[in-house]
Amino acid sequence: MASLRLFSTNHQSLLLPSSLSHNPLTSSSPRFVKNPIRRSPIRSVLQFNRKPELAGEKPRIVVITSGKGGVGKTTTTANVGLSLARYGFSVVAIDADLGLRNLDLLLGLENRVNYTCVEVINGDCRLDQALVRDKRWSNFELLCISKPRSKLPMGFGGKALEWLVDALKTRPEGSPDFIIIDCPAGIDAGFITAITPANEAILVTTPDITALRDADRVTGLLECDGIRDIKMIVNRVRTDMIKGEDMMSVLDVQEMLGLSLLGAIPEDSEVIRSTNRGFPLVLNKPPTLAGLAFEQAAWRLVEQDSMKAVMVEEEPKKRGFFSFFGG
Ligand code: ADP
Ligand code: MG
Repeated sequence: MASLRLFSTNHQSLLLPSSLSHNPLTSSSPRFVKNPIRRSPIRSVLQFNRKPELAGEKPRIVVITSGKGGVGKTTTTANVGLSLARYGFSVVAIDADLGLRNLDLLLGLENRVNYTCVEVINGDCRLDQALVRDKRWSNFELLCISKPRSKLPMGFGGKALEWLVDALKTRPEGSPDFIIIDCPAGIDAGFITAITPANEAILVTTPDITALRDADRVTGLLECDGIRDIKMIVNRVRTDMIKGEDMMSVLDVQEMLGLSLLGAIPEDSEVIRSTNRGFPLVLNKPPTLAGLAFEQAAWRLVEQDSMKAVMVEEEPKKRGFFSFFGG
């Protein structure tokens, strides 16, 4: 048997004020749930009592991108975004995926999106009317670029998104701490629009060769656009497949892409369950391993930290998955 340990380069314990450790609203009844609470011995980092220290200038404008579709960008945006809000930071998440908008669904906010950026730009509504405030965490707001299945109007590009981001910065209540942008798949106009206002990026990839090729291409494009701070999240990691040498290890992925690691998220059926409930994983109590991994990735994002993780094998003579996460 092997045990998995994840180490952050920052060895301080993950602590938060006790006032942040309780959210009475997480017990609200989500959609389609028979038994919302899955018993597990895992404990959330939110139970501790230190808040992560915000590194870098506010607002941090982070694009969550991948190249390949279906690797977990929207899942990451929802879970990292809500973790940041739970740490006490104000967050605006922008769904820049046009025809395939689904961040609102993951967050359970789909019935509350009345206006989008397109209406704001056209002058049909105010910016605050297009911002949907999460009822569970009021310091988290969602902004959608356009209605589902609609095409981006001519003239709506990077400059328009930059204008909206500037408007968010100069709101009367002050600039948010984080603006996170859920990028569409591909490298066409929607991608260019989404990355334009960003000054840092989280590249989400799965440990498979097609996702890696796209991720590598996207890294080059981000660098060309002047985004130098690029960290990666490796999603849907399966230790059983890595053990059987059927899946690349996170260390392999890191060596291939040459990026610092923000988090490694295990494959977890609870992700799909939480997607269907519109109740992001990090709000589960007690959290699952994947939820914890997202919380910790958010912590590292705040502190501009990165992680180094190793697979600790209890039968050291066997080769194979020592390099699972890399030492
Ligand atoms: P993208 O935004 O990159 O297209 P999504 O976040 O929509 O990808 O995720 C695609 C699918 O993969 C969703 O059904 C989601 O529930 C599932 N998924 C994402 N991450 C995981 C994970 N760690 N474990 C299991 N399923 C996952
Ligand atoms: Mg998506």
